Parts: sequence; C-alpha cells; structure tokens
Amino acid sequence: MRAFVHIGLPSRVVFGAGSFERVAAEVDHLGLRRVLVLSTPGQRRLADQVAHQLESRVAGFFDQVVMHVPIETVVAARAAARATDADGCVAIGGGSTIGFAKVLGLDAETLGAAAGGARLPAMRSLPTLAITTTFSGSEMTPVFGVTAAGHKQTVRDPRVLPRTVIYDPDLLSTLPAKVAGPSGINGIAHCVEALYAADGNPIISLMAEEGIRTLAGSLPRVVSDAANREARAEALYGAWLAGSCLAAVTTGLHHKLCHLLGGRYNLPHAETHTVILPHAVQYNRGAAPEAMGRITRALDGADPAQGLYDLARSLRAPLSLKELGLPAAALDELADLAAAAAYYNPRPLEWPAIRQLLQNAWEGKRPAGD
Ligand code: NAD
Repeated sequence: MRAFVHIGLPSRVVFGAGSFERVAAEVDHLGLRRVLVLSTPGQRRLADQVAHQLESRVAGFFDQVVMHVPIETVVAARAAARATDADGCVAIGGGSTIGFAKVLGLDAETLGAAAGGARLPAMRSLPTLAITTTFSGSEMTPVFGVTAAGHKQTVRDPRVLPRTVIYDPDLLSTLPAKVAGPSGINGIAHCVEALYAADGNPIISLMAEEGIRTLAGSLPRVVSDAANREARAEALYGAWLAGSCLAAVTTGLHHKLCHLLGGRYNLPHAETHTVILPHAVQYNRGAAPEAMGRITRALDGADPAQGLYDLARSLRAPLSLKELGLPAAALDELADLAAAAAYYNPRPLEWPAIRQLLQNAWEGKRPAGD
C-alpha cells in the first residue's frame, strides 16, 4: 500500500428524513443568536419555513442568490449581513446558495483578491449552517468560487467550510427532475476524479466508489418517481460522500474543462459536468486502471465511460455541448486552454486527444468503450 495523508474536515452532519425540524437546535448548538437566512428567489418559501422555526434568532433574509457567485450580488448580501448585524447564516438550497454563504463571512482581503482585486468593506466572519436541497456536494467542501469581470476564480480555504450540514430528503421532493439528474452526476464527477487524484487515498477511494454506486443506483428512481422518498435519501447520502471526496482532493481534466466551459462560455454547471464526464473518463481510462475498475464495480459491471453516458441518457439529461449552446468555434480555444494549464491528470494533457474529447462531447457521441 502506498503512503498517504488523510485530513478529516470538522463538519457536523445531521442526516435523515425530518432532520429539517432540528434547525433551531442546530443554530443553538453553533451558539448563534442572529442569523441571516439565504436562498434563491425560487426557494424563499423554504427560507420562510426556516425562519418560522428560528423565530427571534432570525436577523434578516437575503433571497437574491443567483448561480456562479457574482461579486456584485455578494456585495449586496454582505451589506445585508452588516445592516442586520448577523452573527451567522443559514443557507437553504443547492450549491449556488451554499456558495454565497461561503463567501459571506470571508475577510475582505481574501475575497477581494479572489475577485480580481476588488476593494470590499470589512466584516465579521459568519459561521454557516447549510441545509442542502440538491446533490452537487458543495456543502462538504472548503472550496469557494466568485465571479468578477466574467472570470470565475475557485479557491480552497478551510474557513469557508459550513460548520453544520442538514440533509433531509423530504426537502428534495420539489426538486425538478431536470435539476436532480445533472446535479447527481455532478456529484458522481467528484467521486470519479477523487479515484485517480494524485492526493487521493484509500479512505477517499472507498467513499468515492460508494458515492458512485449510491448515486447511479438511486438517481433513475429519483427522476422517474418524485414520490420516492427512499431513493432521494440514498441519492442524498451519495451526494454527501461525493462532496466529502471533492473536499479532499485536487481535481483533473474533467473539472478543468467544466470550469472553463462555465467561466468562459457561461454554460450551466451541472449539465456541463453531465456532458463531459463520460468523455473525460474515456480520455483517462488507460492511465487509471484501478479507478476504472472501481467505477465499473460501482456501475454494476458496465463499461465506465459508456455506463456514465447511458446513465445520463436514462435520466434524460443533456448529452451534448451543442444542445447546451456552445458554438463549435469554441472547441479549439478550449483545447488550447485545457492543454496549457498546469494541473495533475493521470493521462498527460495531449492537445489532439483533448480536442477530440471536446468534439465527441460537442456532438454527444456515446464513448467507444474499451
Ligand atoms: P443550484 O444551487 O444552482 O440550484 C439550481 C436551481 O434549482 C436553483 O434555481 C434552485 O433554487 C433550484 N432548487 C434547488 N433545490 C431545489 C429543490 N429542492 N426544489 C426546487 N428547486 C430547487 O444547483 P447546484 O447544481 O446544487 O449548484 C451549482 C453551483 O454550485 C455552481 O455554481 C457550482 O460551481 C457550485 N458548486 C460548488 C462546489 C464547491 O465545492 N465549491 C461543488 C459543487 C457545486
């Protein structure tokens, strides 16, 4: 067995149907007296349900969360936190809302530097309770993103890790199938890249394989039957594992491509992961045999690249970059950027093969397999 380092991150996880009822107890456990409740406009009703439980512990709301953490909206959220004198926040939603909570209480220098040198007013740090309503796994990671002047910067900083996470499958009964499927495959992508990461380890590999098995096994039932509580609970457990894997490793070509497609071409996050993943696996298959063996086991014996493609198809998720609106003319530039950047990937970064990967993903081709 090779030598490794494993760091267990200090978050408290409250899991299970009905755990939403524990919000007030968990806010008390964190010692918070005045929290700002964060949500998207579409999830404001859930934010009101949080407030109903918290009563006088609510300092205010910020319900204008949007995707990709734009600095202008973050500045407004930070102003709301200062104006209400909040001492913490409760974020209820998916990766977008939790992404806001992460940067809310970050010191002005760190956030300003990530946002291209923006000058921001100082503010106190705000411990976060995250209540998760998708499968993308952000709540378990010490990674934050912020978008400024059309560029999304991603930074790892242990201070942004939510202190407590509530996973209640009942909150996902309203999750539309077209959000659920891709967000679950986003989770699977974290597991896949954790399996061959240079800084992975045997504990993370156990969690990653189980995360893929659990998500791939439950997502078809989540998407086809909105009333299936057990399937939602299984998928949420997989999402927790997936987020924990992402928290522990440095990702490779797959995440790099998705980051470029989201940041430069504004493609939707989870759908982009869904399209790219089978092709990234196909690219890396010869260079990461142990990881491929684990993916195959987790997919019940399917070919790793074809199995992931077929899963996305069964979820009626997008299969091509073309249908996500990417112009074919972007592919050369994307291959240039992905091949030139410096990051670990099990197979070396080869421009012609990356360009072919992008072509196949653009067309939505089923990977050739072994
Ligand atoms: P999301 O948070 O963007 O949510 C998508 C939409 O679904 C939103 O309109 C939201 O209001 C709605 N929604 C969410 N849950 C719902 C529910 N239960 N019922 C009804 N509607 C619901 O989706 P996401 O895929 O979880 O998050 C994507 C974002 O998260 C991206 O910006 C990505 O960069 C980030 N992310 C970050 C990390 C990290 O570690 N930092 C990890 C994964 C994703």
